[in-house]
Amino acid sequence: MLKGKTALVTGSTSGIGLGMATALAAQGANIVLNGFGDADGPRAQVLAAGQAHGAKVAYHGADMSRAAEIENMMKYTASQFGGVDILVNNAGIQHVASVHEFPPERWDAIIAINLTSAFHTTRLALPAMLANNWGRIINIASVHGLVGSAQKSAYVAAKHGIVGLTKVTALETAPTGVTCNAICPGWVLTPLVQKQVDAKAEQLGISNDEAKKALLGEKEPSMHFTTPEELAALAVFFCSPAAGNVRGVAWNMDGGWVAQ
Ligand code: NAD
Repeated sequence: MLKGKTALVTGSTSGIGLGMATALAAQGANIVLNGFGDADGPRAQVLAAGQAHGAKVAYHGADMSRAAEIENMMKYTASQFGGVDILVNNAGIQHVASVHEFPPERWDAIIAINLTSAFHTTRLALPAMLANNWGRIINIASVHGLVGSAQKSAYVAAKHGIVGLTKVTALETAPTGVTCNAICPGWVLTPLVQKQVDAKAEQLGISNDEAKKALLGEKEPSMHFTTPEELAALAVFFCSPAAGNVRGVAWNMDGGWVAQ
């Protein structure tokens, strides 16, 4: 379905982003990976997923808190594949602390990586998408783009911000073949959440499994984690012709978290 298209997935060396890149490659899209840590393993996984379609995979290690590096990544993508057709703004970090104890430099980093980076990639990708009259911008927000949780001021502010950016981008592109939507996951068991599981286990003196159940029990009535594969299937739907008029939604996949 996506053969000949190019998808740039930020923060795709791990977790949800890697799931997105794998699923888009399986649909035939060429992929540009981004993120920290080992890139060879993720590249091999995504290449294998796209092998049947001959999908190509490239990597750029831009730090998403730095505008100049984001600009370089966008130029690199254009030089490798001619431009970005599908932009998945996924890179994100978390820090947990009360507002009055929140380190200002952590606040700045979360706003830069979880929100401002999406502004830069979007503003740089849109001109070519509009010229082609086709594009898909998928912002990985969170249930925390829809509701708050204590101890997560910067994250909740950034995620509410990216839901706002999604709506405005969708409105500005509404008469065109470019769409912009957000996906709002509940708990997904990635390294970002495992850190919170570990903290809970230590804080309460309980096992890893008990800490997972405690975390789910606080928020997620289904009592199970959403998977990167389930989220990626929604992203693939957003890229399909059937979703051509889905614009500006913030679609939660959260085991009932926000329904409460
Ligand atoms: P993760 O820690 O597994 O992956 C994060 C990715 O972002 C990694 O590839 C990492 O290298 C990259 N990254 C971090 N800082 C970066 C930077 N400065 N520049 C470039 N890349 C950077 O986390 P995840 O759980 O897969 O999270 C992915 C997205 O999903 C985030 O935006 C997160 O807020 C969101 N999300 C996660 C959950 C969850 O429960 N895990 C729930 C809702 C939303």
